[in-house]
Amino acid sequence: MKALVFTAPGQVELLDVPEPEPAPREVLVEVRAAGICGSELHGARRPGFRQPPLIMGHEFAGTGAGGEPVVVNPILSCGRCAECRRGLRHVCREREIIGVHRAGGFAERVAVPASALRPLPPGLPWEAAALIEPAANAVHAWNLAGRALGASGAVSTDGAQRARVAVIGCGAIGLLCAAMALSSGAALVEVTDLSPARLAAAQRLGAEVASPGLSGEYDVVIDAVGSAATRAASVAHQRPGGVAVWLGLAEEEAGFDANALIRSEKRVLGSFAYRDEEFAQAMARISDWDLTWAAGYPLAEAAGIFTDLMNGGLHPLKALLLP
Ligand SMILES: [Zn+2]
Ligand SMILES: [Zn+2]
Repeated sequence: MKALVFTAPGQVELLDVPEPEPAPREVLVEVRAAGICGSELHGARRPGFRQPPLIMGHEFAGTGAGGEPVVVNPILSCGRCAECRRGLRHVCREREIIGVHRAGGFAERVAVPASALRPLPPGLPWEAAALIEPAANAVHAWNLAGRALGASGAVSTDGAQRARVAVIGCGAIGLLCAAMALSSGAALVEVTDLSPARLAAAQRLGAEVASPGLSGEYDVVIDAVGSAATRAASVAHQRPGGVAVWLGLAEEEAGFDANALIRSEKRVLGSFAYRDEEFAQAMARISDWDLTWAAGYPLAEAAGIFTDLMNGGLHPLKALLLP
């Protein structure tokens, strides 16, 4: 079968590879759509957790053994540790991710544990189904913010208490965070990005562009970039007692004013992946959101699209491979 293989740092190739052979309790998924994630572009340039040779792809949907439409929750966990037992299996110390630690969805077929399959609602387009995984990240970030701010905070639909939200970075995750905030009753969602195309996509979702950049203070600042500069901005533009949620992983440095954090009781929360119920929430919401910023391509074009995006190309905003 054909697969897009990460073969060396900075290099991906469309190759003929052996058919995957499902182990006991695994299922062969016929992939119909698989999203290219920013973390993969980054990871291919500078290999860390992802080591070549690897078929990447952790955001994908397709058909299961009986031809039924499924989406894959790519997080595999031990199921025994304290975190797993508390419903926090996304931070299990033995966590592995399909497409990171084992072959993923950038292929015609992939074998995955049967426990990773989630049935899709009828009629959901494959492109939308492949965006459930990134959308689940946005649901999780929003839920973390809401919990931090309490019942009268980000999750309230009470007009007097509705949150002012800023989103730094309008790649797919930033856009989905904006969509989640807007559809959850935020009073205002302002976004920043260097790319006019990304800002236009955010405006189509109903967000406002903060021009020339963030000004003033927000209840929630979501950093979907993860550079020292954006992390500093997420603290600087947070109101006293507000919350910043960090999803971006561009750099290791934090770069923020820790004393300001203390004096104004600001908060910073790390947000990684999602809980199982948040994956389900993302599935329930995804069809309500504008997804025209994502574009599908045949697998035959995968190496060119991936390489272009890896080298800084900004079009499309989000690429979905359609094997
Ligand atoms: Zn991803
Ligand atoms: Zn565990």
